[in-house]
Amino acid sequence: MATTTLPEAEVEVGKSEAKKSAPQYVYFFGGGKADGHGKMKDELGGKGAGLAEMTNAGLPVPPGFTIQTEACREYMRHGDVSKEVDRQMEEALAKLEALQGQKLGIGETPLLVSVRSGAKFSMPGMMDTILNLGLNDKSVEALAKRSGNSRFAHDSYRRLIQMFGNVVLEIPKAAFDEVFDAKKKQRKKKLDTELTDKDLKEVIAEYKKVVKKHAKRDFPQDANEQLVMARDAVFRSWENDRAKHYRRINNISDELGTAVNVQAMVFGNLGDSSGTGVGFTRNPATGTKEFYGEFLMNAQGEDVVAGIRTPVHISELEKIMPDVYRQLHEITTRLEKHYRDMQDFEFTIQEGKLYMLQTRNGKRTGLAAVRVAIEMVEEGLITKEEAIFRVEPNQLYDFLVPRLDEKRVKVEVLATGLPASPGAAVGQIVFTAEDAVAKAGHGTKKNPVILVRAETTPEDIQGMEVAVGILTSRGGMTSHAAVVTRGMGKCCVAGAGDIQVNEHTQEMRVKGQVFKEGDWISLDGTSGRVIKGKLATVDARPDDPELMKLMSWSEPFRKTGVRANADIPRDAIQARAFGAEGIGLCRTEHMFFGEKKIPHMRAMILADNEKDRRAALKKLLPLQRQDFVGVFRAMDGFPVTIRTLDPPLHEFLPRREELMVDIATLPYATAKDKKSLVAKYRDYGAKNAADLKKVMPALLSRVEQLHEFNPMLGHRGCRLGITYPEITEMQAQAIFEAAVQVAKDGVKVKPEVMIPLTATLKEMANQAAIVRRVADEVFKEKGKSVDYLVGTMIELPRAALVADEIAKEAEFFSFGTNDLTQTTFGFSRDDVNKVLPTYIAEGILKQDPFAVLDREGVGQLIRMATERGRKTRPSLKVGICGEHGGEPSSVEFCYQTGLNYVSCSPFRVLTARLAAAQAAASDLLKVEGGRTK
Ligand code: PEP
Ligand code: MG
Repeated sequence: MATTTLPEAEVEVGKSEAKKSAPQYVYFFGGGKADGHGKMKDELGGKGAGLAEMTNAGLPVPPGFTIQTEACREYMRHGDVSKEVDRQMEEALAKLEALQGQKLGIGETPLLVSVRSGAKFSMPGMMDTILNLGLNDKSVEALAKRSGNSRFAHDSYRRLIQMFGNVVLEIPKAAFDEVFDAKKKQRKKKLDTELTDKDLKEVIAEYKKVVKKHAKRDFPQDANEQLVMARDAVFRSWENDRAKHYRRINNISDELGTAVNVQAMVFGNLGDSSGTGVGFTRNPATGTKEFYGEFLMNAQGEDVVAGIRTPVHISELEKIMPDVYRQLHEITTRLEKHYRDMQDFEFTIQEGKLYMLQTRNGKRTGLAAVRVAIEMVEEGLITKEEAIFRVEPNQLYDFLVPRLDEKRVKVEVLATGLPASPGAAVGQIVFTAEDAVAKAGHGTKKNPVILVRAETTPEDIQGMEVAVGILTSRGGMTSHAAVVTRGMGKCCVAGAGDIQVNEHTQEMRVKGQVFKEGDWISLDGTSGRVIKGKLATVDARPDDPELMKLMSWSEPFRKTGVRANADIPRDAIQARAFGAEGIGLCRTEHMFFGEKKIPHMRAMILADNEKDRRAALKKLLPLQRQDFVGVFRAMDGFPVTIRTLDPPLHEFLPRREELMVDIATLPYATAKDKKSLVAKYRDYGAKNAADLKKVMPALLSRVEQLHEFNPMLGHRGCRLGITYPEITEMQAQAIFEAAVQVAKDGVKVKPEVMIPLTATLKEMANQAAIVRRVADEVFKEKGKSVDYLVGTMIELPRAALVADEIAKEAEFFSFGTNDLTQTTFGFSRDDVNKVLPTYIAEGILKQDPFAVLDREGVGQLIRMATERGRKTRPSLKVGICGEHGGEPSSVEFCYQTGLNYVSCSPFRVLTARLAAAQAAASDLLKVEGGRTK
């Protein structure tokens, strides 16, 4: 990233050559003019760029300066900043002091500043901030005098020591909290605000001792020293665990660094004509055009954002201070027009005078994003093309989030909080982020948990990520919990004040009832209700008219087809409703798990000769044919890609170890145990308890035969169809008989038979020959034929390497990127979580390659295989059907690589459609994709 250098003309005459070429590290803003401007987010961060832009627009912004991100990067590289940064900072401070007619921490009206982080992308609450910097033993008295409010001055000072101590000197928060709580206890007070000036002075004395004890130094009295130390601490906070984790889940580069904003303090806690608040120009949950915000009188900014006191709705401000309210409304309306996007802003009122502290494009739910985009087009603020990029494809999920099913059940509403993030969540209560992580499980053993907290803090991020929903008893719509969950698209009810949460006793009390860890509750993030027990949920309807409108604008740009991975007619119908243009992967093995089919499937597997296997397959044939009929009908003329049997056979049988235990414990089994064993082994021939003795050991011996040390690399994929050709035969027969049957009814059908896990041309030729032979036989017998294709999955690096060969037989390729990622990295897709967190924390991998396609490695194989395949067969149809097919950046890669289609789970079809449209549109329109973060 380029650093901006001072234009020649602005360099003062007489400065050394070195200074002339030194980068501009520090950008001043104030007095109606700023050195920087709103487009300089790379250098000034979002906050700094916003402050410069607002200053230039003549808004009432407290003056200050921004130390740009390059200084942070230097700090990360060398553990310090260059002398030039110090020099430019001193210069800017002198300018600020001159403008304000004050000196930092000195004199009768000492200048006090805030020192805040501000990266290119918003990272709410992840990095550090220090307020009231410049206060010391002397200036606190000056402030007391000037404000005529000694209590306020001492409260500000104790806050500074606490923040500085924690952030800069790295003293645990608890050390200060202990002192403060002890004072409240001693004075028999409940609220912080009930402590007197004298109490606070005592707290300050105690706080200083805490500093001395933990940091082995005194709290610095020199304001300039405070400033340098605070700046460096904010730079360091870029690298704290919370910030790193946040960047990882939001895909923000670690290289960017943060800017530091030093700004004259204005006080929202100078009494009843002061206050502070935050707001949005439109409702961030629904998108409704309404002035939306919250504020607190006589409070400092962090009281609102941290959710410590529950704020009041902005409309109340109109009653208290009508002029300020009107000015705020006017300014923020202007800001929205200026930025042409919904704004989220912070303001402070100091003794009746309004100051704007921050504005940025506001985070919003998917529902709001679509609505705001559409209304802004109607208002003439943005174009339809721009609107397409105002919604992140993953946000469309919000339209698909479930709602609570309240029909036929008696709902007991325990409390109503703020509808902070829409959707529904049903789960078991946990009270800490650690418990959330421990209890949520993963993979197929996921367990829904709801994190219940008085309020969340950035430390809770990992727990919030794994929980299905979040409930807090304190905090507003802009509290940490609300902001973060909206970004995650996760249901959240915040500020449910009737609930008492005790994290120590692990209890939630409400309406005289006590809830413990593990108890079920249901949340409605759209209405804010907290409901007792485990409600069912219903699917959302994806046919929202505004969503349809946005899609109708984006669809003409889309060039990549979108199909769905669906195995049963119900999913196929769902996928069609979301706009899928075919099935890209029908995993036939999932069809065999049905009650009627599994016994025959097991019989087929247990057979140790071809005759018995064929007999079992014969029973499966009509059932499988019926499934295909359903899927073909649902797809009504769209292509359906059906994969022949893929997984290792033992997946259909009991686990070896479990069976061994059952055999070993059989002699001691009670009648009841035996009954349940008979039920368990009925499919294998156990009709009564006496059979168990024979059936279980026979089964074990077959399970032993099938046992593999590395089943994922074992007897699976096309290897099954090659060793047992009768399986492929039966499946092909079912597919073509179903196709002919449906075609005879006048429904168009387009089967595409897909052979899994091929690595060589001969494997492909072997299986394709069976499929084509069976097709001919069926067509001849039925007197009707249908068009079909035979192709393969590319899931092994070898297949990608010899794609030109394989394409001699394969009429289409579909990249199975789950397996291809597994086999390219050599990571087991089921066990990768043992190493992945470390890999990501260490920066070895930027993200989970099973979620976001690894463009460098796996992507290269995809590109190569596509090119080689099409060289042999120019008409080769190429798609992707691994999980990546529904992930926006992977979809973009597929578009860029010229794939014909992506295929993903039905619930990601809308996301994939928008992502594909954005990829093509950004190519065509040459616009930068994605909404500003
Ligand atoms: C794949 O490997 O990407 C794939 C789609 O197949 P499965 O997930 O069934 O192995
Ligand atoms: Mg696979």
